[in-house]
Amino acid sequence: MIMTNEKNYKSPLDSIDVSFSNYVAMRKREESLHMEDGVPDYAFDLDYELRRRMEQIPHFTGLCKKISATIETRAIQIYNQQAVAVSPEQYGEIYSMGTDCAKRLGIGTPNIFVYPSPQINAFTCASDTISPMIVLYSGIVDRLKPAELKCVIAHECGHIHNEHTIYQNVVGEILNSGSGILGFFLSVANMALMQFWTRACEITADRAAVICADNVEDAVNVQKKLFSGATFNAEFQENLNLDALKAQLDVTLNNPSRLYEIMSDHPSGLRRIFCMKEFEECEIYYKWRTEKKKPGSIGRNKEETDERCRKLVNIWNNAQAKNYRYEEKS
Ligand SMILES: [Zn+2]
Repeated sequence: MIMTNEKNYKSPLDSIDVSFSNYVAMRKREESLHMEDGVPDYAFDLDYELRRRMEQIPHFTGLCKKISATIETRAIQIYNQQAVAVSPEQYGEIYSMGTDCAKRLGIGTPNIFVYPSPQINAFTCASDTISPMIVLYSGIVDRLKPAELKCVIAHECGHIHNEHTIYQNVVGEILNSGSGILGFFLSVANMALMQFWTRACEITADRAAVICADNVEDAVNVQKKLFSGATFNAEFQENLNLDALKAQLDVTLNNPSRLYEIMSDHPSGLRRIFCMKEFEECEIYYKWRTEKKKPGSIGRNKEETDERCRKLVNIWNNAQAKNYRYEEKS
């Protein structure tokens, strides 16, 4: 297995202006508009709070950044051998999706690879926001419409924008290795906290997808398709009824089986769909996409939106989520 700290991979994207000065100028513009205390203003507060707690673990953040850089370098070299590197000349439509999302969020253009696999999956293992990496499995490219695929890329860009992956890379390594020496530094309680946090990260990244989406329904349709298997009968899946899905979620909430999700690093697709619909009604969304504000738009403040989403993702207190009612726009 290749292990190096040197980023010696020559990407077809090297001709693109990803200079540090250009990045800093772009990032400053975005920060003045959409950053609060170094965190994007759309970040789900549960994600934000837990991230701050992890930063308080001595030496943990620095350790994660160093390990993460090594993991990303190794991954770039491996995927450059096993996947198609996206560029203006190679899968140009996907390249444009990446540049569009990156530009909107204010991060560097991602190096996207399309990996040959029927799995419906995508991920990033970026160690910084300057020249991040995203992998799309060919299965997800095949099964989604272009506008939906853009939302998947935007979701991964959201993880990059919020620097989730510097911690998630390390969590993944620990879980894959069955703890190992790194586990020595992390107590069981901290590991449980991190799984709780990774679920909150998904809500933040889904908000990035909503912000970048041409239409919010494209982002919702991604979850509908992932939830129902992303078969080729797309129309069937796009017509999934939200009220019926909420009734389905209520059945889970009435049963201790809901605790199954504690072992998961992703919230259920149903919870994610409703959290995205909530963010669509948040004033922060309209701050990013002023052109989307229409007469009758609710425009709840960030605190209220986060509170409503907390009810939806709360596994322990199921009464909160059961009392949640999604209000369709009139
Ligand atoms: Zn994610």
